[in-house]
Amino acid sequence: MREISASSVTDKVREMCIEANIILPKDISNRIHECYKNEPWAPAKDTLGKLIENMDIARDASLPICQDTGMAWIYIEIGQEVHITGGDLCEAIHEGVRRGYADGFLRKSVVADPLRRKNTGDNTPAVITTDIVPGDKLTVTVGPKGFGSENMSRLVMFPPAKGEKGVKDFVVETAQIAGPNPCPPIVIGVGIGGTFDRVALLAKKALMRSTDARNPDKYYSDMEAELLERVNAIGVGPQGFGGKTTALAVNIETYPTHIAGLPVAVNINCHVTRHIKATL
Ligand code: SF4
Repeated sequence: MREISASSVTDKVREMCIEANIILPKDISNRIHECYKNEPWAPAKDTLGKLIENMDIARDASLPICQDTGMAWIYIEIGQEVHITGGDLCEAIHEGVRRGYADGFLRKSVVADPLRRKNTGDNTPAVITTDIVPGDKLTVTVGPKGFGSENMSRLVMFPPAKGEKGVKDFVVETAQIAGPNPCPPIVIGVGIGGTFDRVALLAKKALMRSTDARNPDKYYSDMEAELLERVNAIGVGPQGFGGKTTALAVNIETYPTHIAGLPVAVNINCHVTRHIKATL
């Protein structure tokens, strides 16, 4: 059994919340640069140039890339041979978020109750998902999630007869309905299969996967490529100014499902698709 202290989890989460909000991950920044080079429509190219300038300023001046520094989505893969010492794992994570958002001067965007809406003042609680995995490591993924894009996400429980066409059309329709609202160019995380709750998690995990990594199943990596092309043909463009760069990537994650169902979830992220991973 390997021991990991709750305080080291707090320290790591604190550091990751700050870094994630200041420095865009390499895969996203590279995709934006690549789209800038290939975008033929002048207003779109100009907009992508401004997004690049914005991310460079944020990194150099240690400022948040966007004013919406998000609700902290935290994914923990905990090895079954890990023992957390000196405190409660979830409380250690919340404390890391609390300190990160205070020390990084990041906007506090969480309300304690969804209807009575009083700000908690410290960006907690985080949304925490844990998976138990083999081994003696603890892997933390931090993805601060802005709600301009989260609000544009959709979930549907299709009958199986809707099939591949139904899934693809739902993804494209979701991007169309979203239009300029999620601050494009967007990243689209698609979950297919599982149950009502699992499919939403699949879509979120798809969003947190590097846009450089394609689905290992060729059937789905071909679908990712086709959907990216179809979404980019909509013509929403960067920040809604038209052009061919509406999406940076479409990532699909799947899970077995029931004979009577075909759950599909589409989770949208903006050009500030923050994800950072570390292993303790
Ligand atoms: S959707 Fe993204 S870019 Fe737009 S305000 Fe929210 S975090 Fe910022």
